[in-house]
Amino acid sequence: MYNPKSTKAEEFINNEEILKTIKYAQENAENKDLIKKIIEKAKEKKGLSHKDAIILLTCKDEELNGEIFKLAKDIKEEYYGNRIVLFAPLYLSNYCVNGCTYCPYHAKNKHIPRKKMTQEEIRNEVIALQDMGHKRLAIESGEDPVNNPIEYILESIKTIYSIKHKNGAIRRVNVNIAATTVENYKKLHDAGIGTYILFQETYNKESYEKLHPTGPKHNYAYHTEAMDRAMQAGIDDVGLGVLFGLENYLYEFTGLLMHAEHLEAVYGVGPHTISVPRIRRADDIDPNTFSNAIDDETFKKLVAVIRIAVPYTGMIVSTRENKECRKAVLELGISQISGGSKTSVGGYYKPEKEDEDSSQFEVNDNRTLDEVVNWLMELNYLPSFCTACYGSGRTGDRFMSICKNLQIHNFCLPNAIMTLKEYLVDYASETTKQTGEKLILNELEKINDEERKQLVISNLDKIVKGERNFKF
Ligand code: SF4
Ligand code: SF4
Repeated sequence: MYNPKSTKAEEFINNEEILKTIKYAQENAENKDLIKKIIEKAKEKKGLSHKDAIILLTCKDEELNGEIFKLAKDIKEEYYGNRIVLFAPLYLSNYCVNGCTYCPYHAKNKHIPRKKMTQEEIRNEVIALQDMGHKRLAIESGEDPVNNPIEYILESIKTIYSIKHKNGAIRRVNVNIAATTVENYKKLHDAGIGTYILFQETYNKESYEKLHPTGPKHNYAYHTEAMDRAMQAGIDDVGLGVLFGLENYLYEFTGLLMHAEHLEAVYGVGPHTISVPRIRRADDIDPNTFSNAIDDETFKKLVAVIRIAVPYTGMIVSTRENKECRKAVLELGISQISGGSKTSVGGYYKPEKEDEDSSQFEVNDNRTLDEVVNWLMELNYLPSFCTACYGSGRTGDRFMSICKNLQIHNFCLPNAIMTLKEYLVDYASETTKQTGEKLILNELEKINDEERKQLVISNLDKIVKGERNFKF
């Protein structure tokens, strides 16, 4: 029985409800009156239920689709402005006991090099990341209680936060590790993590069990209820995602929104972020063996409708996507992207040799961080290295209420300007510096509050003189 308030996986992600929703969407694919009514509702910019949102996703009418895309752009602009937050993944270890059939780290893959970074190696990677200009990392690790126990993850987080190289600092560590216990989530919370990220991979239980034939991840309920345990442990920023291509995207889309509705219904806080990875080629993995791959047009529509359905949730796209696709989805709702990424264990400090490749997936955007920053600015986006909310206690429901009241932009804009300035002073190439300085002058004019604007101008001056980490 479907019940968003239940904490049982099969009740809040209810198979029957999902199938019913898809059927309802298929029956109404040509129902223009209904689609128009839902677009009007969506224009209130307060989000949509999974039942309403799927109607927009399956809409085939070109004119109405134009309205849907425009609305996604408007919502993005109104909630977040033009800032795009940058981050990098850092893979700690690819030892893994699970059997995920779509991931090269699965336990039966005997030819991929297995690596686990020592604290010294992590230190070198973090210095290399700081020297690129990164301030925000997402750490990743396979699940292996012997090789990667929670103590290893905690020690690594401590190491990462402790490194202060030149003007560099990692100010926010988001964590993407396997589903774990409330006790371990409490430890992660106490270690000062930002967002806890866990991809559901697929919401379809039957497919999930087939795609995860062995290892602890096989347990669908334990995996699906992970965010509940994280919330119970005090982590109030959680990041959802599915791996598009494993299952029918309509199923995944509905499951994803139901998950968001569940978190909101039970904890009063929806997901902090939603990631939209698509399956990619990797060692031992041929994406063509997964028949549910979605094309670029469908992908764009997905991003746009997720943006409309959960306006208050940050949306992330990684270097799985190429430059063109990233450009298209930035417009439609993405608010955070990775840049200069390595998806191997190590590789920032010293590139891996070809025969030692430990990548989790093929990267489709190989540009440096500086190139990505410059590209964003040329597209009129404001690249941001801001991590202020966590340090200022704006997490969970406090963040959500500011965001839902369309006020977060008042923090994001000045913080983006100041962190971009840090980047320009410390790390940027000459071309990027020139573009960035011009952009900053324009962006300052968008700060409505004169007092705040003057404070930002004075902080920019202090940044040039060597001070760091100003925030609102
Ligand atoms: Fe292990 Fe995660 Fe890869 Fe599965 S997806 S094999 S859990 S690293
Ligand atoms: Fe993110 Fe908060 Fe910074 Fe805005 S102010 S970019 S929401 S950390």
